[in-house]
Amino acid sequence: MNVINPASEEIITTLKEDGQDSLSIKFQLLQAAQPSWAQKPLEVRIELLRNFCNLLENDSEHLAGILTAEVGKPMQQSRNELKGARRRIDWMLKNAEKYLTDELMTFEEGLIEKISYEPLGVVCNISAWNYPYLVGVNVFVPALLAGNVVMYKPSEYASLTGLQIEKLLKKAGVPEDVFQVAIGGKDTGELLLDMEFDGYFFTGSYKTGKHIYECVASKMVPCQLELGGKDPLYVADDVQDIIAVAEATADGAFYNNGQSCCAVERIYVHEKIYDQYVEAFLKEVQSWKVGEPTGQGVYIGPLTRKDQIAILEHQIDDALAKGATVLTGGKRCEGKGYYFEPTVLIGVTNTMKIMQEESFGPVIGIMKVKDDAEALTLMQDTQYGLTAAVYSSDEGRAKKILEQINAGTGYWNCCDRVSAALPWSGRKHSGIGATLSHQGFRVFTKLKAWHLRN
Ligand code: NAD
Repeated sequence: MNVINPASEEIITTLKEDGQDSLSIKFQLLQAAQPSWAQKPLEVRIELLRNFCNLLENDSEHLAGILTAEVGKPMQQSRNELKGARRRIDWMLKNAEKYLTDELMTFEEGLIEKISYEPLGVVCNISAWNYPYLVGVNVFVPALLAGNVVMYKPSEYASLTGLQIEKLLKKAGVPEDVFQVAIGGKDTGELLLDMEFDGYFFTGSYKTGKHIYECVASKMVPCQLELGGKDPLYVADDVQDIIAVAEATADGAFYNNGQSCCAVERIYVHEKIYDQYVEAFLKEVQSWKVGEPTGQGVYIGPLTRKDQIAILEHQIDDALAKGATVLTGGKRCEGKGYYFEPTVLIGVTNTMKIMQEESFGPVIGIMKVKDDAEALTLMQDTQYGLTAAVYSSDEGRAKKILEQINAGTGYWNCCDRVSAALPWSGRKHSGIGATLSHQGFRVFTKLKAWHLRN
């Protein structure tokens, strides 16, 4: 399997994909290692993952370089991702004991009732490439802390990062066989679905997630899906600083080249401030430096996947055919690398693909609305349910809208953000289950109810 640099289209290296035989060996090693890993005191597992977190910090520049080379993320954004991952791990380490130790529920004369949290066993994590550290950490850190062992399949677009994670976990003292990496793409993923894992944790597209859910259903083990989104954002007419809101929301739409599950994918703006907002938004987008992800001050690098260019072109063509206007961008960049111009469309409607299908690229549609009711109706009009955002100076006004949207996350005066303390969950085509928060520990456990009489 060739690992390609999306900025230069050059082959960075070639890796051997895992097949049936190597995966079976890795699975057996995991199975054998699980009981003794689970028997280690929680403090020991916490300490080893603390070492891992420190190694991420020590090696940060080197790791950021690898990430940028294989996914095309601007260097500063790779550094930010590593920093974010360390912060997330830190929260998990500080909270592991609280959420994984036995809970006493009833204590009375002659009767104790308590809950214990037992590990699932050998879990499989099939992961995405857009934030390989962040989405990886969401799964393998709490899974390991809870006493599971992990088969981690990084995306084929982030394999080198997956191998670095494995190397650093071992260097941190996590026993050799407790964490295994499965290298490869769809075929390797399919082989994992045929194996008898005790839980499947997937991050990726709706299409693949649905397939995985169907494939593993008869195993009767937990299957959690963190999928895509078409996240709406509404800017009400009472925002104080239109320019600041335009800048912040443009970042929410275009950070990481728009390749974030919770990127702002549709913008609705109150008609009273629409012109000022669009002008400021456009100015912001046109100020960004597009280029080599290793270049100083670059905000937009190449897309990670070449195939996504055709999808963006198709969405833009569909929008133009239905009456939209491109204000800036609109096409791929000439020359080497999978570059696409940051693109802003107006005159869009919800009948267009650009407002319905996940773009996962540097493209956004902005639509004028007459009031909150129209904004709400349009925001609700989606198969997805990951996040929704409202910018307004009135918390009550924003909450009234967000409460009515069937999404896992509501943002007031912010967007495109994730907190380790809060559950990260999608609804409808955006997924099933949650990572992060207390829930992000518990999903890697089986609850046991203890009725103890003496
Ligand atoms: P993808 O579905 O193409 O691939 C995800 C993973 O599944 C990869 O490791 C891939 O090799 C594997 N895979 C592909 N086909 C498979 C099959 N038939 N059987 C088993 N495994 C298979 O998604 P992607 O392009 O890696 O990621 C982008 C998507 O992920 C976007 O939709 C994005 O919104 C979503 N995402 C969601 C979250 C979240 O937390 N909700 C986070 C990041 C990304």
